[in-house]
Amino acid sequence: MDYSASNHSKVMIFYITCLISYILSGLCLSQFKMVMQTIPQTVYLIILVGLFFIYGIIFLFMLFQYLCRKDLSYIMILGLAFLSCNIYFSETIYLVLSLINDTKFIEEKTNDVAIFYYFRQVSFIVLLLVSIKAYKRTITVIESKEREPCYIFMALLIMIALALLSHNLSSYNPNFTLEITQIKNDGKSVHWNIWYIYSLIFSWVGLLTYLILKTKIHSILWKSIALLCGSAAFTNVLLLSLDEYNMYIWYISRGIEVISTLCIISILMYNTFLILKKETDSSIKDAMTKIYNRKLFYKSLKSFIEKGVVCVMILDIDKFKRINDTYGHHEGDKVIISIVDIINKSIRDTDIFARVGGEEFGILLNCKDKDEAIIIAERIRKNVETETTVPNRYGLKEKMTISIGVYYSKADDVLADKVVSYADNALYEAKKSGRNKVCYYYD
Ligand code: GH3
Ligand code: MG
Ligand code: MG
Repeated sequence: MDYSASNHSKVMIFYITCLISYILSGLCLSQFKMVMQTIPQTVYLIILVGLFFIYGIIFLFMLFQYLCRKDLSYIMILGLAFLSCNIYFSETIYLVLSLINDTKFIEEKTNDVAIFYYFRQVSFIVLLLVSIKAYKRTITVIESKEREPCYIFMALLIMIALALLSHNLSSYNPNFTLEITQIKNDGKSVHWNIWYIYSLIFSWVGLLTYLILKTKIHSILWKSIALLCGSAAFTNVLLLSLDEYNMYIWYISRGIEVISTLCIISILMYNTFLILKKETDSSIKDAMTKIYNRKLFYKSLKSFIEKGVVCVMILDIDKFKRINDTYGHHEGDKVIISIVDIINKSIRDTDIFARVGGEEFGILLNCKDKDEAIIIAERIRKNVETETTVPNRYGLKEKMTISIGVYYSKADDVLADKVVSYADNALYEAKKSGRNKVCYYYD
């Protein structure tokens, strides 16, 4: 498993643990006879406004991602799914605000809140369905020319149509009605029409199954969306017990929603920074060996010279061409990667180790004098020789050796090219005098 995938899993595991512990503690608390009949309207508003902003941020993230990669239309539709929820949050926030001042139409307004809650989920489910349909697994990170704006247009139409439909079904339009909740005889508790909840549970589970089958949830984004679908289905199962009116369930449900959407935001942010890191790495690192490249080596060399102390080594694999000619380029690459690993383990993290040519490397050392530099170079040379002796843990077919040219200077007026040419001269000397050697350049 690569580094980013394992970190992704850690993020997912963290949120799943949060969700499970939250649900368990919530359910335990609800057993302590702390039955609540109502939710203070200010608490209700704070949570709704909070969710409004979280969903808005997710939409913006997805919109920007789409603007950078126009072929990822499924991301834009996913963003629209989150944006559509904000239409219903706005309707509900407006209703709750008017409830504070008006207690006359409480039954009607409670039903309206339920209608917007129901349609928020319907809209999300349908748009997510369109997004999965538009999804094509893209292997490359390069923008492809294939675009499917018709899906985005369809998603926009669905989003607007459902918003208009729900608005008209609520008490705003007396010609159409949809009765999802009724107030019980006690005048306080609300009774949900159970079939609406069943339809939501059924849809969420169906959607989750389709999502798994179509996307194989191979990407972390789909994993987090799957988590959101699973939590939404579970939230609706909890809603079934709202018959015995206990408002703890409401708090648990909203908490689940907050945690699962935070999971999506974290994944989106983490992915953005990961892409940034990969881009930075690819401009300063060598793709095959994953050590620094020539450009970074020279840049670092200049800053070492400016500091006034520079210790440079140039290393070259002995008789390497023969490996390519005898066993092929694949074996040649394997030799390069293995030797890089051995050298990497022989130096400190603070030293700069770079691939400056095909099978030629450069090291910038932090050392106090020339003697120390020679000791380190000798250690590297010995390690390569002993660790490649057949049989070796890298599975190399022949023992390999390297030659090293070393140069140390305390002056801050030397040129980078000059320093490297001195080390190169020493390397030439090592090659000439029989290879598998360390040579030092004396001014
Ligand atoms: P010497 O001891 O004098 O260094 O002999 P040599 O055979 O190692 O000679 P030289 O350093 O000139 O060999 C360089 C060879 O390395 C030539 C080139 O085909 C090969 N090479 C360069 N980059 C790569 C690479 O990324 N993979 C593979 N497999 N071979 C490479
Ligand atoms: Mg060589
Ligand atoms: Mg060479």
